[in-house]
Amino acid sequence: MIDNKEDKTPVAQNVVTMCTKCKMQLDHVVLFHDKEGIVEKVKCNTCGSEHKYRPEREKSPKKAAKTSKGGRRSKKLDLTMDFETLTEKFKGKKPVHYTMSGSFKADDMIEHKTFGLGIVISASNEKMEVVFSDRPRTLVYNW
Ligand SMILES: [Zn+2]
Repeated sequence: MIDNKEDKTPVAQNVVTMCTKCKMQLDHVVLFHDKEGIVEKVKCNTCGSEHKYRPEREKSPKKAAKTSKGGRRSKKLDLTMDFETLTEKFKGKKPVHYTMSGSFKADDMIEHKTFGLGIVISASNEKMEVVFSDRPRTLVYNW
């Protein structure tokens, strides 16, 4: 079985893991695996002690918080954010009426006569990504 997603760092490779002696995240060399290829024993490069390898739990709070719902992934601004939340953030702004010949930039709030209120997420090359209450759309500008 190779479709196991566990840690399969090969023997003699370095892994950074918690050293039980040094009590720090340090470089360790992998001593051996179990038959599934999961790292079992490591040796600390710093103090030389050998100990069991314990895979780290994902501790980064960022990741945990973002995998909530929505399913749509974006590396830019978080489009899964509620439209409400977005408009709340832009509350102080006055929406600009959208026209194809208009000039817009990221963080502008626009008012589209069909789609209503929208927030410009990014704008370049005469196209901009705008989040509306139902979904994001790409609009042209500067035409
Ligand atoms: Zn150590």
